[in-house]
Amino acid sequence: MNLTKTDFKEYLLCKEGLWLKKKQPDDYTAGEFSLFLEKLINDGYEVEEYVHRLFPDGVALEGDEESLLADTKKLVELADKPTGTECASKPIFQATFKTDEGLFVKIDILNFNKETRKWDIYEVKSSSDIKTDIKHNHIKDITFQTIVAERSGISIGESYIIHINKKYKREGEIDLRELFVFVNVSDDVNTERNVVESEIKNALLLLSQDKIPMDSCSCLYKSSAQRCDSFEFFNKGVPKYSVHNLFRGNKLRQLVDESIFDIADIPDDFKLTEKQEEQVTLQRTRKPLIDKNEIEETLSSLKFPLYFLDYETFGKPIPLLDGYKTNQQIVFQFSLHVLESDGTLKHYEYLAEKMPDATKTLLSVLKAHIGPVGSIIVWYESFEKGRNKELAELHPEYKEFLEDVNNRIFDLMKVFKKDYLHPDFNGSASIKNVLPVMLPELSYKALDIQNGTMALTEWERMLAEDTQDEDRKEIKKNLLEYCKLDTLAMVEIYKKLEEL
Ligand code: SF4
Repeated sequence: MNLTKTDFKEYLLCKEGLWLKKKQPDDYTAGEFSLFLEKLINDGYEVEEYVHRLFPDGVALEGDEESLLADTKKLVELADKPTGTECASKPIFQATFKTDEGLFVKIDILNFNKETRKWDIYEVKSSSDIKTDIKHNHIKDITFQTIVAERSGISIGESYIIHINKKYKREGEIDLRELFVFVNVSDDVNTERNVVESEIKNALLLLSQDKIPMDSCSCLYKSSAQRCDSFEFFNKGVPKYSVHNLFRGNKLRQLVDESIFDIADIPDDFKLTEKQEEQVTLQRTRKPLIDKNEIEETLSSLKFPLYFLDYETFGKPIPLLDGYKTNQQIVFQFSLHVLESDGTLKHYEYLAEKMPDATKTLLSVLKAHIGPVGSIIVWYESFEKGRNKELAELHPEYKEFLEDVNNRIFDLMKVFKKDYLHPDFNGSASIKNVLPVMLPELSYKALDIQNGTMALTEWERMLAEDTQDEDRKEIKKNLLEYCKLDTLAMVEIYKKLEEL
């Protein structure tokens, strides 16, 4: 059984998860490893393609495992056979190695150094810095690659991580030398080597076992934010919304040790914060906690007409437009519902169908529909406010307008953080949790596009040259429907609050 770099990363994150995925794949839940992670992986490939341009002589290897291994072997051997005075070796993209123990790697770029007569490793990252946290440890990644290449008989010289320069702002053609940062991490690799060697040994040992304890896993003692999609498989007695959503550390440990998982079962004398107390009351009584006076006061502070606004955005590690930095979001769509004091409701929308002028046209349409008076209602204000600030920098002619919009924004989510709590919101004020409880008839489930990640992926597909006109029309319709529901949901939730 192979242990790849991805497997090794998963091992560092969770031993039980890796074992399940490799040994009992039918029980492994890939869950949210869906569009968002897929997008990250595809972004990574795009970044690699740009980096390859810095190695114009590079040879890209493709094919199945066997041919990758054979081609790598051939190219590596060439390094020892100088042609005339020039060494015949070239940088190899996706050089592939496999050891007898089953360690398997594909190296982003392997480059023969003619002076040291050793191979330098280059690992490409689509991030804007070198990460060494629990979820992503780039030094361990490259150390794993180094160890496996060396065990395959390759003499490794220097190790480099190539990542994106977070200060780089695109102006015209991409300047590859400015866009990428090369960091020599050879010393870090040497420091980390012994630890990674021992982790590899333990990972192989784990995968040699036919059974592991299945009645629980180590996330039983961790807050819900840290778990993976296999939590339910390993911890069958724990409800979906449990003490793990409210506590961490010693308090969580105390409850778990007493087998208290349901929030409603938390003992009366257990010390709680005000917020935790609210959640315990909600789960015990199963009745909403609503502060009508506060809500009335909040709503009366809003000024008509009410503008319900939502943006959809798209970002890439390699900036697509001038003035943009890595991963900076392009606002490509808005939906705007305008509610007058007499109950009249109008809807306006915009969806960019071309990349270069996407935001400029969007702003001119938005400005035509947002008048000088009236509250602008969004859900999770820091998102729209943040985009407006960036847009003001990119399009200074709209600065005054966008600053005014930001000054008039009201975040409807705040009501659901404080004054309207429901046991079925499961402690969340996200519109995706609030809407099905408040207005079950208005569901995202009936739509072809159901979340922001799907929206941005579909927009990219809509703009792609090879997309057929029929598909393009269908995607456009779906995107407009999705964004429209975001603002219509806010309108209807607002009306429900008014009825209280
Ligand atoms: S829930 Fe945690 S310990 Fe359990 S399999 Fe997932 S990551 Fe591993």
